[in-house]
Amino acid sequence: MRHLIAGNWKMNGLAAEAAALAEAVAQGCPVEADLLVFPPATVLTLVARILAGTPVAVGGQDCHTDGSGAHTGDVSASMLRDAGATWVILGHSERRAEHHETDDIVRQKVNAAVACGLNTIVCVGETAEHRREGRQAEIVGWQIAGSLPKDFTGVLAYEPVWAIGTGRTPTEAEVEEMHGFIRGELRRELGVNGEKVCILYGGSVKPSNAAALMALPDVGGALVGGASLVAADFLSIARAAAALSNGSAGG
Ligand code: PEP
Repeated sequence: MRHLIAGNWKMNGLAAEAAALAEAVAQGCPVEADLLVFPPATVLTLVARILAGTPVAVGGQDCHTDGSGAHTGDVSASMLRDAGATWVILGHSERRAEHHETDDIVRQKVNAAVACGLNTIVCVGETAEHRREGRQAEIVGWQIAGSLPKDFTGVLAYEPVWAIGTGRTPTEAEVEEMHGFIRGELRRELGVNGEKVCILYGGSVKPSNAAALMALPDVGGALVGGASLVAADFLSIARAAAALSNGSAGG
């Protein structure tokens, strides 16, 4: 199995920095891992041009449910395509929290993105309070049921909200338990397609913990925030993924 490493640059990077980061990623990317970067919308075209012809694909960090219209400040899926994106992240916890995105809105966005030919990464994950209350499986189960269309064939990212940008991660046992639970929910919700969905882990992934996290069952790669802004760190995580891909029986 080839692991997928996705770098979410969030609201970081003016043109010069974005170009330098994209060039460094292009030069250092190992061929045995699938790499994606998600720059801010303002530099999407620039980054897509730099990465054209490399194994690194480019995506947007969000898209609107509609194709066009009176939605000041928003970006549609077709605009992302037009700018060079082939992927989009939907339902990131920062969008859910700061823009009040519900599961229903996330599902509509997935449909809009797929209709435009974009590949999707849908994020789910519990808050610290939910985990303290022991409700992480219940919350993630609800998010999966509500956010994914029944014909979903994209990528799912499990990102505990309390692990994002904090330097804290769940234990390997907790990640394994949650990814196993998610696989079961995907099978239940999506039938045979649920078997094929790649499940990424996200939340404070860094070079020092990436290999161990990605080696766990049902972890198909990583969604990386902060560490994706430092080319050396992102590439180190990519090499860890490539080593796992090389070592796996299926190649
Ligand atoms: C993210 O925001 O998707 C993320 C995983 O961030 P970080 O790696 O910085 O925790």
